[in-house]
Amino acid sequence: MSNTIAPEATLSLTGYIAGQPVHAAQVLEVRSPYDGRLAGTVALASRRDTDAAIAAGLSAGVRQTRYERFAVLDKARQLLEERKEEFARLITSESGLAIREARYEVGRARDVLHFAALESLKDDGQIFSCDISPQGKARKIFTTREPLTLAVAITPFNHPLNQVAHKIAPAIATGTPVILKPSEKTPLTAIRLVELLYEAGLPPAMLSVLLGPTAEVAEVLVTDPRVELVSFTGSVAVGKHIAKQAGYKKVILELGGNDPLIVLEDADMDLAVTLAAEGSYRNSGQRCTAVKRILVQESIHNQFVEKLIEKTKEYLAGDPHLPETRVGTVIDEPAAKYLEDVVAKAVAQGAKVRIGGRRNGALLEPTVITDVPRNAQMVVQESFGPLAPVIKVRDLEDAVQLANSTAYGLSSGIVTKDMEKALYAVKNLRMGTVNINEVPGYRIESSPFGGIKDSGLGIKEGVIEAMKCFTYVKTFSLPW
Ligand code: NAD
Repeated sequence: MSNTIAPEATLSLTGYIAGQPVHAAQVLEVRSPYDGRLAGTVALASRRDTDAAIAAGLSAGVRQTRYERFAVLDKARQLLEERKEEFARLITSESGLAIREARYEVGRARDVLHFAALESLKDDGQIFSCDISPQGKARKIFTTREPLTLAVAITPFNHPLNQVAHKIAPAIATGTPVILKPSEKTPLTAIRLVELLYEAGLPPAMLSVLLGPTAEVAEVLVTDPRVELVSFTGSVAVGKHIAKQAGYKKVILELGGNDPLIVLEDADMDLAVTLAAEGSYRNSGQRCTAVKRILVQESIHNQFVEKLIEKTKEYLAGDPHLPETRVGTVIDEPAAKYLEDVVAKAVAQGAKVRIGGRRNGALLEPTVITDVPRNAQMVVQESFGPLAPVIKVRDLEDAVQLANSTAYGLSSGIVTKDMEKALYAVKNLRMGTVNINEVPGYRIESSPFGGIKDSGLGIKEGVIEAMKCFTYVKTFSLPW
């Protein structure tokens, strides 16, 4: 039996305005970053379609019960479970991510649907007795959550399914109508998820999905004063642009990361090496929380590097459709060339490539780089690919200072057996997350997630926090 997999059929998809397909003369072609094969096409929306989607969302007028919202999300979870292989193969064919990563991502998106379904049944209302001060009254104040009139979700390419699920499922769980603008680099999986949600019984008016020129779709959605929330995940540059453009509305920004993994001399060495490799290479290094800097105490630096080089040999880069491939492509050839360029710049400053570094089209080998200067572009800015730059640090204080020195503040990890040192890291790293003896990206889909500084405004996502974003709190009071 051959270990190659038959190519997928080419998909021909459209956006949807409240369940109705967008008809358009122009289509976007989506090609595999690995071999250029056409993965699918999407009919492009125009300004008129965007206006129609906003009007449809505003007039949705749907009030589903908690049970009805649960039923939609739970049915969607079941359908995704049944079609997990189809979704995984679609992720791989449009993004170049290795099939094993795509399968993992489908499992995460299934969790998102599951947790959102469960959360839709819960009421987090609070009660405040008012007779608790000298000027109090015999009353009680209650809180209740109301859906927003209309929300917009804009998503990046790096998790074509899960990024979309993390915005759409909480919106559905709260009953807020939403318009999705997925990445033009990976729109096929996103549109397939929207179709699955309609099939699961979501009232079509609750969800539209559009792809088209930024000036006719994304910018119109961001600036329209009738949109109450823009929930954006993507780059710092676009996020800051949206913050300026959006005007008077809620804006959730989940932006880039430059996450450190700190390895102290008392660390379990095998664990540290495994976490460094997993954090740097999984998902082709294209996670906002990927390990982007490995800060190793100088007394164990050389031993760590030798072991990381050995470990890196296990991360086979190649055809993303093959089950043995652990690292697929990055999103496109220009992205791979950018990474090649930042490595070359670091080398010109004295860094050494110890393994990997070769590029073929959009495929870049997992790369260990040592002697990286602290001011190298590849460690000051976010490098979104399978790079593992190792930097020597004197001690924990030096590591924390270096970790905090960039503009980002998303997540971090520290490998140590010393509880005091672990707690020092928790208290002193200015990041949204500190994971002890884990990769910076460790989370579950319902725990709070998000960064500070250039990584975000400190407003968390994760299913439960995102549901708070998609609602507003109303209080009402009664005589008691
Ligand atoms: P990107 O910013 O280029 O694009 C993200 C989305 O914004 C796309 O849908 C794009 O079409 C849209 N967009 C582009 N210009 C726009 C405009 N003017 N107005 C409105 N929308 C516009 O990001 P990307 O390259 O797709 O994704 C990679 C980035 O996302 C990395 O920096 C990564 O760290 C970040 N990311 C962050 C998180 C997080 O949770 N913090 C998660 C995943 C990815």
